[in-house]
Amino acid sequence: MKLLEHQAKEQLRSVGIECPTGRLARNPETARAAAEELGRVVVKAQVPIGGRGKAGGVKLAGTPEEAFSAAEQILGMQVRGYSVPSLLVEEALEISEELYLGVTVDRDRRRMAVMLSFAGGMEIEEVAEQSPERIAKLWPDPFEGPHPFEIRQLVLDALSSGGGQPSLPRAAYLGSLVPLVQRLYELSQRLDAGLCEINPLVVTRAGRLIAGDAKIEIEQNAEFRHHELLHALGVDAAGGSSGDDPLEVEARRRGLTYVHLGGDVGIIGNGAGLVMNTLDLVQQQGGRAANFLDIGGGAKAEVVRRALEMVLLDPDVKGVFVNIFGGITRGDEVARGLIEARDQLEIRVPLVVRMTGTREEEGRQLLEEAGITPAASAAGAARKVVELIAAGAVG
Ligand code: GDP
Ligand code: MN
Repeated sequence: MKLLEHQAKEQLRSVGIECPTGRLARNPETARAAAEELGRVVVKAQVPIGGRGKAGGVKLAGTPEEAFSAAEQILGMQVRGYSVPSLLVEEALEISEELYLGVTVDRDRRRMAVMLSFAGGMEIEEVAEQSPERIAKLWPDPFEGPHPFEIRQLVLDALSSGGGQPSLPRAAYLGSLVPLVQRLYELSQRLDAGLCEINPLVVTRAGRLIAGDAKIEIEQNAEFRHHELLHALGVDAAGGSSGDDPLEVEARRRGLTYVHLGGDVGIIGNGAGLVMNTLDLVQQQGGRAANFLDIGGGAKAEVVRRALEMVLLDPDVKGVFVNIFGGITRGDEVARGLIEARDQLEIRVPLVVRMTGTREEEGRQLLEEAGITPAASAAGAARKVVELIAAGAVG
């Protein structure tokens, strides 16, 4: 789960990392009041995605009235696909340098990686792509964490590859970055965070290091260890937050393996490989899959019914392709589940079924008796569902 910036900064403060004083605002009046209290402010969209600055979701305001109108502009606007429900109004920083500091998982090395760069700020993606040598890295021992001497080396590496002229003497960076990196690393471990990032880590004109932005992503598979935190953030037990796809949150709540893909062909299959193959077949026929849904091995009628119900929650779905290879999954169980679902759910879109393997004949017979004609081949089924959707067929 991705924390919003103000939530992530709360976590940073809890380990003693300095952040600007700020107030959360849900309307322009509150933003103005915050600016009256704080002076020159920056008004920032609270959406669970980066790149807000470039999208116009971060605005400086010198007066309370400017804060009011910045808030008016940003609230409700679309920032990279998210409409903005709230703002963080923070005292503006006098920036002399923007550093990048991140702790993330390096899957190749099977370790956490700490990354530090003096080329931080909004262009960090370009830096990572075009001049990765400007980002210094450290892979701490998982049991010991980063040692001060390793962090000092990281800082020196970052300084020597940084590009521009650093604004502070070397000793000042060493002195402040060693504890800061240790704290961020400890936080990432305590939160089971796949990403803890401060970008920009601002060096102020007065020479202090302050977190200008914060991104924290708690690893989904570890969310059960953080119920208290998630609860405090107002996130429901299924781990849904404003940053998650609502259909995927619902699927998780229902215990289904589902990924929302955004097209209009609903997909149900058994086994991840078969489902991916099914996505390819649909794509090859010029269709766009709405989702990935794997009912797994040995699914009973009930699971099939729930899967179909889930796929149909997506209002974009204009047809459903069920592709079953019966091994331990039995064709008659699948057929029963589909028929039950159809009878209970009032399905208004075409349903195309391809089924082979164990109890195929029994399954076919049940489907045919219920008026559902199974397709002879997977490719044929893919073609059929795409054609039916193109023709605007109803169930
Ligand atoms: P992001 O684009 O979503 O990563 O949002 P950030 O919070 O990182 O803001 C983007 C950029 O806005 C930063 O890189 C800064 O250059 C600028 N910015 C953010 N906060 C302040 C601030 O308090 N003062 C000033 N002068 N600039 C800021
Ligand atoms: Mn940022």
